[in-house]
This record gives sequence, C-alpha cells and structure tokens, in this order.
Amino acid sequence: MAKSELSLLQSVFAMKCPRCRTGDLFTIPGSFQFKQLTVMPDVCPSCGQKFLPEPGFYYGAMFISYIICGFWFLGFIAICMFVFDLSVDTSFILLFVMIAILFGWIFRISRSIWIHITIKYDPTYLHK
Ligand SMILES: [Zn+2]
Repeated sequence: MAKSELSLLQSVFAMKCPRCRTGDLFTIPGSFQFKQLTVMPDVCPSCGQKFLPEPGFYYGAMFISYIICGFWFLGFIAICMFVFDLSVDTSFILLFVMIAILFGWIFRISRSIWIHITIKYDPTYLHK
C-alpha cells in the first residue's frame, strides 16, 4: 500500500482512517450534511481497520467534544462580550446559532480525534 501523503493533523481534520490515512471515516464525507451524520462503515474501505474496535468505543469522543465545546464556547462568549461589547443575551443567541451550524462538525471531529488517539498510523497494515 502506498504511504499516505497526509500528516496526523491533516488526517484528523480530513476525517480519514487513522491506520492508513486514506479511507474515509464516515460513509458520506463532509460535515454539513445531517441525514447520515453518525453513519460510519464497519471497516476502513482501504485497509480493513475496524472503525468500532469495541462496543461503546465512541463514548470517549464525548469527552473530546466536551473539551472542545467548553473552551471554544467560553472563548466565544468572552470575545462577544469583551471585544465586541455585546450583551449576555445577544452573546448567547449568537452562540446557539453557531452551535446549530457547527453541531455536525463538532460531532464528527470529536470522533475523528478520539479514533486517532487510540489507533496508530501504520501504512503497512492490511487486515486479513
Ligand atoms: Zn484505513
């Protein structure tokens, strides 16, 4: 198998298989479609790495999501209030709009980060 051109960060953000960095993690790529947001293939279409290594594997992704959201939302509110001098109500309305738009991306990037933490890159790996 050819060595992937993607770095770790590129692979995380492109939501590729952590093992080969070639196959897509999600059945329908892209973060702004909501019909099949959670649908992932059982195994990587390129190298055969299991995308659900054990039951409940993606519970860990909730903690990644929590960390991203905690810092991001706090920073967002702080910028709205202290940089743009908006009221608390306006800041929170803007926050909810942003969450509605970015929900799918945050969900998927959390899973992508989680699986990249637990599965190491190995371009020679080919599941028999
Ligand atoms: Zn793969």
